[in-house]
Amino acid sequence: MRALYWFRNDLRLNDNLSLNLALEKADEILFVYIHDTSNDKYSSWGFKKMGEHRKLFLSQGLKELNQNLGEYAHSLNIYVDDSVNILKKLVIKYKIDTIFCESIEAFDEQKQIKSLSIMKIDVVTYFQSSLFVENQLPFDMNDLPDVFTDFRKTIEHKNIKPNKPVSILEKIFKIKSIKDSKLVELDTKFNDYTKSSFPIMDKKFMGGEKSGILYLKKYFQSNKAESYKNTRNELTGINFSTKFSPWLSLGYISARQVFFYLDQYENNIKKNESTYWIFFELLWRDYFRFIMIKYGEKLFYKRGLNLSKENIKHDFTRFESWTTGKTKNKFINAGMNELRSTGFLSNRMRQIVASYLINELGCDWRAGAAWFESKLIDYDVYSNQGNWAYMSGCGTDPRGGRFFNVEKQQKTHDGNSTYQLFWNSK
Ligand code: FAD
Repeated sequence: MRALYWFRNDLRLNDNLSLNLALEKADEILFVYIHDTSNDKYSSWGFKKMGEHRKLFLSQGLKELNQNLGEYAHSLNIYVDDSVNILKKLVIKYKIDTIFCESIEAFDEQKQIKSLSIMKIDVVTYFQSSLFVENQLPFDMNDLPDVFTDFRKTIEHKNIKPNKPVSILEKIFKIKSIKDSKLVELDTKFNDYTKSSFPIMDKKFMGGEKSGILYLKKYFQSNKAESYKNTRNELTGINFSTKFSPWLSLGYISARQVFFYLDQYENNIKKNESTYWIFFELLWRDYFRFIMIKYGEKLFYKRGLNLSKENIKHDFTRFESWTTGKTKNKFINAGMNELRSTGFLSNRMRQIVASYLINELGCDWRAGAAWFESKLIDYDVYSNQGNWAYMSGCGTDPRGGRFFNVEKQQKTHDGNSTYQLFWNSK
């Protein structure tokens, strides 16, 4: 069988169940990555879907993926095109029997799969970006608890554990592969990331499977996990939270690999409330994935899941003051400057600036989500849409949305204004 393996947000060779499935079934493979041109177009909010920071982190990882495939005498064929269009052409050109890829359960990505199916192209998808696979869950997706705590307690009570990560199949050594394109380099810009909490020009933070695994190993060789819960809400620097999210988002590493290292650390070095809390946060990540599977496109509606929120307003001038770091609040401006210039923002600052946009500037939460999509290195459709909907009361928050008192937050997290001065200075 002739297969096309379409890398999406799973840019790795190991613990890639979907890739292993393709290897198992095929005799010959065309390895493909497509930078969809929709990423470079301006959305209705007025900016590109994929900004320069994520594009750089992505292009680093694509180069590495090509090298990693090269170790098995294969290469990655990269295209900048409309995904469906180029896949159709490749299927015809190389008489491909089946396309294999990971399943991304979000609106646009599902639409791509539907379009291929309408053209009678055989596509085998596999959902693999979570800790738990769907058949491990003790409930049917339609009965997934809407409240995170109920979801977490059920998983913990039943002591359900993620499956062990798997290596790439030995067959990668002998399978034939097709070479179609020259290595396309995405057009990228280099910024000064020295002030960043995730400095992607530093070798230790570059995109790629090997860099990701090395970072993961080093994290658990240090004792950072033991104090994670005490430091996770800090705002600046490379040491305060795990920083796994950028690697997880593009699939350079898998959630199961993170769990595996965490589990070893707990068994061999130390287990405490902090190490548990890393698992707790990974559960949030899974929960937002499953919530999107359950509710689908509703999570992208203005009202989200909340019928009473149809009248949400938007103000483009106030929104622009937020994106450009020119609001009346210096603490908020600092956060927005950090995000715009580096592509990273701590979880606490994400919550504070999101609350400010929704509750104090009276803007549409989907505009905020779109801005995060454009700027974040770790943009992940499930976590981003899920958190924004949750914050705005259009998601599954049982309290109906979150309000962060900016003054109080600043006193607690930046009492001496170090953060504010750091990101507001030229
Ligand atoms: P850690 O604190 O070290 O957490 C460990 C891991 O747990 C993270 O890598 C992440 O995978 C997961 N995690 C932690 N918090 C959350 C959460 N609230 N929701 C889902 N997963 C979580 N995260 C993204 O990966 N991509 C996004 O696009 C994204 N958008 C967000 C938008 C808003 C408005 C908010 C409030 C949060 C968003 N988050 C997003 C979640 C969270 O802020 C980041 O995952 C976290 O800050 C990444 O840093 P870390 O890896 O050091 O996290």
